[in-house]
Amino acid sequence: MKIGVMGAGQLGRMMALAGTPLAHEFLFYDTSGSPSVGIGEVIIDKTGAQAAAFAERVDRITYEFEHLPVDAAEQVAELKPLHPSARVLSICQDREKEKSLFKELGIPTPRWQIVRSAKELAKAGETLGFPVVAKSCTEGYDGKGQAVLRSAADADQAWNSIGHDRLIVEAFVNFSREVSIIAVRSEAGEIRVYPIAENVHHEGILRYSLAPAPGLSQAVQDDAFCLMKLLLNELDYVGVLALELFETDSGLLANEMAPRVHNSGHWTMDGAVTSQFENHVRAVAGHPLGDTSPRGYSCMVNIIAEHGDLGRLMELPYAKIHLYGKAARPGRKLGHINVLADTYEELLWRVANVAQFLPGAPEFQCSLHKSTPVRAED
Ligand code: AMP
Repeated sequence: MKIGVMGAGQLGRMMALAGTPLAHEFLFYDTSGSPSVGIGEVIIDKTGAQAAAFAERVDRITYEFEHLPVDAAEQVAELKPLHPSARVLSICQDREKEKSLFKELGIPTPRWQIVRSAKELAKAGETLGFPVVAKSCTEGYDGKGQAVLRSAADADQAWNSIGHDRLIVEAFVNFSREVSIIAVRSEAGEIRVYPIAENVHHEGILRYSLAPAPGLSQAVQDDAFCLMKLLLNELDYVGVLALELFETDSGLLANEMAPRVHNSGHWTMDGAVTSQFENHVRAVAGHPLGDTSPRGYSCMVNIIAEHGDLGRLMELPYAKIHLYGKAARPGRKLGHINVLADTYEELLWRVANVAQFLPGAPEFQCSLHKSTPVRAED
């Protein structure tokens, strides 16, 4: 089967790397003008004029990036099966639509309001209670297009710095940690879920994902799975869906979803029986889904901005390196390293060991550090 992928970055690259052993071929469609996929053929189309020609050349279509023109997705969906659908894409591009869907389905979120001016922003802060987080409804990622307001006096500056005409304002959540659940649904409606990951961010960018997230009660895991199932079935979803959640004393709150393979699921490439990439390809191609069980304890460490001491990292027997073939640049995701271990304690010192060869990596601090000392390897 020839699978068309809209978007041509590292997620598409890893999809193709996972789908090739299943004898699928991949054709990429890039609207940014700067594809970084590095493998396979890429159609570069900044105007959208070649969307139909792209669809004609493939059997099925998916996307690896949610900030695509919805009309291009609708256009290709008329010609070939598109998974997930164009409706999913349009919801995930807009935080107002996304949070409205969560509300409709009874999925708990931080309290929120939509505002259209600095004055409304200040008023929403008063209503929700400061501090609040203001986010652009569209185009935000990796913490961009956001501001935390401590009082009404911050409203003008926050409004100007975000520079959008519609913002979502959320009550600031004092979460104990951030977690994500990743699941896959097939055309036949079968659902498989991966163990929940604990995510550690630094300056808005994901740095570490630890899976299975330590110390999550069965009840919380079941809750997360229920929320995921509600979304997958409501959206008649086909493929991998990621849902980011805040863990709080009173349970889980949904932050946002991503209609694609997700950075917090990269650990599955080495730490699960079937990776999120393979399962996404399986779903899109209409195959049965693969086992999502973990193979042990995993931590994904992102390589950001510079590659670090790859020579030393390659000497570590427990570090599996995945590079995206991208040039180094501040804030850019260049690759990731999956660390596997048989126990959480072993995982902690292995990750600390890996991080020392990655300049700029923030100190690895996760929920486990509250109870377990970290040792550096001799
Ligand atoms: P987002 O782009 O919505 O994923 O937000 C980026 C990061 O900002 C999240 O990973 C959180 O660390 C933080 N954040 C977002 N929304 C809130 C909130 N309502 N309360 C506290 N922190 C938040």
